[in-house]
Amino acid sequence: MPERKLPITGHTELIGLIATPIRHSMSPALHNAAFEKLGMDKVYLVFEVGKEGLEAAVQGLRAMGVRGWNVSMPNKAAIMAYLDILSPAAQLCGSVNTVINDGGVLTGTVTDGTGWMHAVAERGIDLKGKKITLLGAGGAATAILVQAALDGVGEISMFNRQDEFWPRAEEKSALVREKTNCKVSLFHLEDRDALRREIGDSVLLVNATSAGMKPQENLCLVDSDMLRRELIVSDVVYNPRQTILLQRAEALGCQTVPGLSMMLWQGAEAFKLWTGVDMPVEYVRKQLGL
Ligand code: NAD
Repeated sequence: MPERKLPITGHTELIGLIATPIRHSMSPALHNAAFEKLGMDKVYLVFEVGKEGLEAAVQGLRAMGVRGWNVSMPNKAAIMAYLDILSPAAQLCGSVNTVINDGGVLTGTVTDGTGWMHAVAERGIDLKGKKITLLGAGGAATAILVQAALDGVGEISMFNRQDEFWPRAEEKSALVREKTNCKVSLFHLEDRDALRREIGDSVLLVNATSAGMKPQENLCLVDSDMLRRELIVSDVVYNPRQTILLQRAEALGCQTVPGLSMMLWQGAEAFKLWTGVDMPVEYVRKQLGL
């Protein structure tokens, strides 16, 4: 992490993140490294705010003219009630991870999906008109589902286990089917034949569940023989960096799109929205060892 050279003065601008628990977040390191590199007199700070303090925090940030902030759990859906404009992606996702304050007008959007699409595109992969298989129906999965559909992915086969996320999987898959040109099909993760068949027909598989993340790091939802060398394999999980799914894919020689790339690009997308400037992504990647 580079040391801050610019002194904090009366001109220093604040960008924030409101969530709880959130002290572990990588976002301050990401954005502050970028501000430092570009000589921008801004600072990114984290604030532990839960649902109870949310409305007051948003009104305070608005009243103080704070240019923008990120939002994470448990505030991603709840904050929508306090914003003025929602992007099409935020409306379809039913959640927000980035707020932009234009002179008191607050716009909410989601950069997880655009971040993932960017991580895919920077590897020279074009998913327009193609078919992908998506595992999950939570926050990360919904963001990918929505953005992939908005960006012209032709077909998405979505899988989730029959847990508390299943009704959400039904709702979001139906909504995206209705509102976009993407063909979306939903399957039970327990249906292994369907999983094998849909992966077999797809150019890319993405795990957007928390299976593979600590403490479920020994879990991989896909059998090795469901993978093939030509399949592109992505995992949104970045802790650990190298999930069992990514290990299996790399052992086969598959091209992979890791969770840390998505994490970096979701930050870069927000950075651009707040500052109008591209994040120096390669510098940040190197500084943070991403
Ligand atoms: P969430 O709680 O909203 O959703 C969890 C999803 O995982 C659900 O679909 C649930 O059914 C599924 N799931 C959990 N355990 C499972 C298991 N054992 N078997 C099958 N399915 C299981 O979580 P989220 O916010 O969507 O986060 C999911 C993962 O994505 C986490 O690891 C998170 O760190 C990661 N994430 C990464 C980025 C990034 O930028 N790379 C961004 C957001 C989230």
